[in-house]
Formats: sequence, C-alpha cells, structure tokens
Amino acid sequence: MLAANDHSPPKVVSAAEIDGAGDLALVVHARLCAVYKCPIPYFSEKEPLSELISALLSHRTRNAASGKAFKSLRARFPTWEEVMRADLSAIEEAIAGVTWPELKAPRIREILTAIDARAGRLSLDFLADLPAEEARRWLEQFPGIGPKTSAAVLAFSSLRMRALPVDSHHHRVAQRLGLIGPKVDVGPSHAILRAQLPADWSAQALYDNHEILMLHGQKVCHHRSPACKACVLLDLCPTGRQRLDRP
Ligand code: SF4
Repeated sequence: MLAANDHSPPKVVSAAEIDGAGDLALVVHARLCAVYKCPIPYFSEKEPLSELISALLSHRTRNAASGKAFKSLRARFPTWEEVMRADLSAIEEAIAGVTWPELKAPRIREILTAIDARAGRLSLDFLADLPAEEARRWLEQFPGIGPKTSAAVLAFSSLRMRALPVDSHHHRVAQRLGLIGPKVDVGPSHAILRAQLPADWSAQALYDNHEILMLHGQKVCHHRSPACKACVLLDLCPTGRQRLDRP
C-alpha cells in the first residue's frame, strides 16, 4: 500500500502504481486535494445538537431550503427545550420549506425528548469526551439517525471529530471510481470508504476527503452527464474510460 499521512499524500504518476482500493483512495485524495486546495475551510460553527437538527432538516432537501428552515425554527423557538415542548403544528409551520415537514417535526421532537432522557440534558457536547466510533454509536441508537447523520454531527459541528460523512455526490463519485461496488448503498458505504483511509488521519483530513469528493461530484462528475474528458481522475476511473471508450 502507498504510504501517506495528512501532510504528504502519495505522489502517483500512473494508474499502474495503484494496488487495491486503499491505494486508489489515497491517490484520488491527493489529486482532488490539489484541485480543490486542501485544507478545506469548515463551513459550520454549529454546536453538535444544532448540527444534528440541521442534518435532520436537510434530508432530501436543498441546502438553501434547509438552512432557511433551521433559521426559522431558531427564530420561533430560541432554545431546544422550547422545541421539545412545542406543538407539532408550530414546529411543522416553522420548517414548512423542507421536504416532508409533517414527518420531520415529530421526528425532531422525539429525538430531542430522547436525548434529554438519555443524556440528562439537551446538549451533545459530552460526545467530545468519547472516541469517535463510540460517539457515533451513541447517536445511532435513536431512530432516524444513521451513519450519514452521525458522521455529519461529528465532522461538521464544533466537535471537529474524526468521521467521514458520505453524501449522494461523494457516493456517486466513489461508485464510478470503483471504490465501492455498484450495489453498495450510501449507509453501508460509510464504513467501507472510511476503512480505505489511514486509521490515524486527522479530523481535518477526513473532512477534506469528504468535501473534495462531494465538490468533484457537484462540479465535474455530474449525475447525468459527467465531464470525464476534463476529469483529473480519468486514468483511474473505469466508468470514465468506458464512457469514452478507452482501454
Ligand atoms: S472520469 Fe468521469 S465518471 Fe470518472 S470520476 Fe471523472 S467525471 Fe466521474
């Protein structure tokens, strides 16, 4: 396997040097880091409970709409205690711009109630004292919180913990590159893609890995017509080579 750490990713000049998915993941990381300029600045300063609610709102919803719904919820209920005790109709009204507000309102209230009961307070700051995997298991005990949401809370919030979220763009690029199989769904892909990266990578390096694969999916490896001719990963990518009919 190629040697790599946070500061000096592998320099690989040809696909022939790659041996296995771990190598491929490192070379993809190095190339995309050069394109998108790692380290990528963090986009969120939210404390972890706010990040969790934000993630729940964002499911199947555009970022702009879920961001607006989050602000609307905070404006109407300045504390999470107030949301926990609010009428469902009032929560639903505040988050009306997201997909399925009628399902998300009760889910948010249920999760707040469950966290309050289990943690003894409406805060997730204590997760900072747990190893990342334990913190994720703690979050995933609640219905509606899967690997994507638990990783997002740890990686994106002010916790800045070591976790690798996988969104639909990241998942699509990884699948086209062959990092994950064609039938591997987003949920199970989290463990596979994390295991391909060095165990000792920092929170920033894992965050970068997610962000650059997501950015590549948004800017180059589009859902409908990927721009393979312009892609820096073309020589590594079976899908791209097949599309352009190259060996
Ligand atoms: S070569 Fe094409 S399919 Fe492969 S990662 Fe690049 S844009 Fe996506």
